[in-house]
Amino acid sequence: MVGRALRRRCPRCAAPAFETYFGLREHCARCGLRFEREEGYWVGALIINTTVAFGTFLLLFVGGIALTWPDVPWGALGVVTVVAMALVPLLFYPLSKTLWMALELSWHPLEEKEIAEAAAKAAG
Ligand SMILES: [Zn+2]
Repeated sequence: MVGRALRRRCPRCAAPAFETYFGLREHCARCGLRFEREEGYWVGALIINTTVAFGTFLLLFVGGIALTWPDVPWGALGVVTVVAMALVPLLFYPLSKTLWMALELSWHPLEEKEIAEAAAKAAG
């Protein structure tokens, strides 16, 4: 499921989960899975995205200091870090959602009513 998530696919059947880069479908076009399983569901994706952004910041900032010490180019390091902090959460946004769906589905399997709803949606 993580492999499917990294390709921005449905965790259940591997069909494309997004209509556009940022536009997640409400239901999977192939298996009918409703992606937002409950209210507040995407908080997990937000936590994943925030963690990746913070990890990138630490890597760039602390790594930049460590690699250039003692002549740290503070201006350049600041610009690179700010640009990365603007881009990483945007670029990682779709993956944070598909990764969250895959992880959450692995420890919280679909319930009977979700399976029935997905089958009804897939049938049309
Ligand atoms: Zn699917």
